[in-house]
Amino acid sequence: MKRTQAGEATGLFQEELLWKAVRDRDRSWDGKFYVGVMTTGIYCRPSCPSRPALRRNVRFFSTPEAAERAGLRACLRCHPKTAGGPHPDTERIRDVCDYVRRNAAEPLSLAGLAERAGLSPFHFHRTFKAIVGVTPKQFLDACRVGAWKGQLRTNRSVTDASFEAGFSSLSRAYERADTRLGMTPAQYRRGGEGLTISYAAVDGPLGRMMIGATDRGLCFLQFAERDEELLAMLRAEYPAARIEPMPEPFSHDFDQWMEALREHLAGQRRVLELPLDLRATAFQMQVWRYLQGIPYGAVQSYREVAEGLGRPKAARAVARACACNRVALVIPCHRVIRGTGELGGYRWGLDRKRALIDRERSVASRKG
Ligand SMILES: [Zn+2]
Repeated sequence: MKRTQAGEATGLFQEELLWKAVRDRDRSWDGKFYVGVMTTGIYCRPSCPSRPALRRNVRFFSTPEAAERAGLRACLRCHPKTAGGPHPDTERIRDVCDYVRRNAAEPLSLAGLAERAGLSPFHFHRTFKAIVGVTPKQFLDACRVGAWKGQLRTNRSVTDASFEAGFSSLSRAYERADTRLGMTPAQYRRGGEGLTISYAAVDGPLGRMMIGATDRGLCFLQFAERDEELLAMLRAEYPAARIEPMPEPFSHDFDQWMEALREHLAGQRRVLELPLDLRATAFQMQVWRYLQGIPYGAVQSYREVAEGLGRPKAARAVARACACNRVALVIPCHRVIRGTGELGGYRWGLDRKRALIDRERSVASRKG
């Protein structure tokens, strides 16, 4: 779309233009106008990732103040008042990550993603890696594997799942299964039999933290007081797997993940996208992927998540899926709270949840 100031066009034409910006989640309009949903009483940036409202329930405002005078309150997901807050590169890359997650089953090219980010392929690669911690290709592969695993779980034939996950041929999917999943599709459905998980425990600001990984990605990241507890939790999650201490020196990948986690916990890296290797139901996978789209420093209620998934009555199921999360931080279930503003539950203790939310809020409110 051609970039115009919201005030330049008038009347019906302008409304059409603004509505198109909302439907396209066009970030170039952020800060230029605000979109209010009269039925929910919330106003958003045009690019808000939440599910779009019905056109007839929507009104446009030129300032947040105007929206608030109309009785609306700011969306907790897109923080319209701080439009333009985070660095534009972070926003662009986050947008690309959201896009890849939503469209992992489509054929996506790296050049197309760079274009979407408005960056040259070279700068895109470098910026993406700097912000996300993995290359765009690694991220794309991880999302495809995620989409594919979600479909395997629904018990359709492996051939259908492969095609729907955007792989160009079945043989490529198997090749991928070998290098990314670490299991053949048939093994995967038997509950990860024959899977080897290496683990290591480290100290962090939230206490002892254990990381479990296959050689394809993280499958476990949890907190506790003692290593024995953590190991018991890991065994309970993966009863059929072979579980062994990570051999030292740690692999380059592992060192990079740890560095990303340290920076994230220190508030120096807002977006944490690490390769995951997870077993889950299709619904859990859907919830977890959605949670990865809740921005750093923001929170949503269980109900908002359910609505965001298009399943407004599934708030309890969402809470259960959060409680089953095995990879803290990377799947940020701490960003989901009760609609009343109470913290709700957290698998690793409410003190840790509160600490994470407080830390993110204070970092996110800093400029730049
Ligand atoms: Zn919003």
